[in-house]
Amino acid sequence: MRLTAEFLADMVSAAAERAEGKIPAKYRMVRRKEFDRDYPQIEELKRRYQYKCQVCQHRIEVGGGRYYCEGHHLRPLGREHRGPPEASNVVILCPNHHAEFDLFLFAILDYKGRKRKLEHMLRSLEATETHLLVRHRIAPEHVDYVTEQFLTRLDLLTRS
Ligand SMILES: [Zn+2]
Repeated sequence: MRLTAEFLADMVSAAAERAEGKIPAKYRMVRRKEFDRDYPQIEELKRRYQYKCQVCQHRIEVGGGRYYCEGHHLRPLGREHRGPPEASNVVILCPNHHAEFDLFLFAILDYKGRKRKLEHMLRSLEATETHLLVRHRIAPEHVDYVTEQFLTRLDLLTRS
């Protein structure tokens, strides 16, 4: 049987529908919110970074000369963190590094420069030094917020 793009698209959407019923509502909501959060400043940043992750430089090619990457709010939006939806609070990441930033597994050690050192909470997982490559202004207060969250979690981790 020959695979066509349409056939594959149907397969994918059928699989997504099947999965939909099995994923607890709260997880579905997180995903949907993430896509809703893209606004013009995030799109502009994605273009500026050529859709490459600021940590690993990976970008996901999706065909037709297009790429997939994600905008992450250092201080997350929403009730608990109340971060602002602005470029100085956003970094562009691949899905893996986005997940690690969401979990506050990284602290940003430098306030300035194009290559800012990152500290991973489970340092042993990082074989080499990790950096965040920066070509736009990141507000220092958002870096501080990430550090606070990182330290809170590190404290919980070392206490248990
Ligand atoms: Zn990455």
